[in-house]
Amino acid sequence: MLKLCAVLVYPANFVKVIADFDATLTRYRVNGLRGRQTSHGLLQQGDAYYDAKRQALYDHYHPLEISPVIPIDEKTKLMEEWWGKTHELLIEGGLTYDAIKKSVANSSIAFREGVSELFEFLEKKEIPVLIFSAGLADVIEEVLRQNLDRTFKNVKIVSNRMVFNDDGQLVSFKGKLIHVLNKNEHALDMAAPLHDRLGVDIGEEDEENVNMKERRNVLLMGDHLGDLRMSDGLDYETRISIGFLNDNIEKSLESYRESFDLVYLNDAPMWGALELVSRLFSTEAS
Ligand SMILES: [Mg+2]
Repeated sequence: MLKLCAVLVYPANFVKVIADFDATLTRYRVNGLRGRQTSHGLLQQGDAYYDAKRQALYDHYHPLEISPVIPIDEKTKLMEEWWGKTHELLIEGGLTYDAIKKSVANSSIAFREGVSELFEFLEKKEIPVLIFSAGLADVIEEVLRQNLDRTFKNVKIVSNRMVFNDDGQLVSFKGKLIHVLNKNEHALDMAAPLHDRLGVDIGEEDEENVNMKERRNVLLMGDHLGDLRMSDGLDYETRISIGFLNDNIEKSLESYRESFDLVYLNDAPMWGALELVSRLFSTEAS
């Protein structure tokens, strides 16, 4: 593969990984079931009224999200509306950090096999992993905390970040809304400062963002064709993309094969991605 050769020209410090979260790093099905194991879906506010209201928004807007006939600018407005209303309900309903912890503990969300090993290899090579998500950064971090056996200093979340008051109640969101249609490299500037895994602001985020932008070889991982747009606005030299096709395989396989460089089916583990990066960077000193 020509692309692989092109990446080999560059050392690991010119590379970054951009990964979608839901159904890419996490499994699409757990025990054969597709449940509500996304960062939004698993969240229970501890108040049935607000949970039902968020569900009603989902029922209304999700069909619009996946509609093939709504023009993109119109759809963008609808998505902003949906995310805005959802965030308002979370605030109005007095979501607490405690409820996030409990929701994650009670959920069936699980990582694909090999995610931890992949993160570990990339950490050794000092290759950053940016998790781009239109979900909720605080929930994603809690999922990482509860489901991986250790923390990784190279893993950063670019997503909607909550602000809690001293009583642990959600009062606002930081930065601009990140929804499904603007989840790309611009999100790095829009999002609240990157946090380390303990939810602490990284002091020199500007420097960090610049360093991130200078890494012009990208390994992108996603489970939707739209995830390929995560590298929009990114001045990349080479992009290797891995697609995880979890559903409608017969219908979608051809378009996934045309769009992604590598395609894995049905909650395949991360061993393929790990083998790829191991081959690319095995000769370098760690
Ligand atoms: Mg996804």
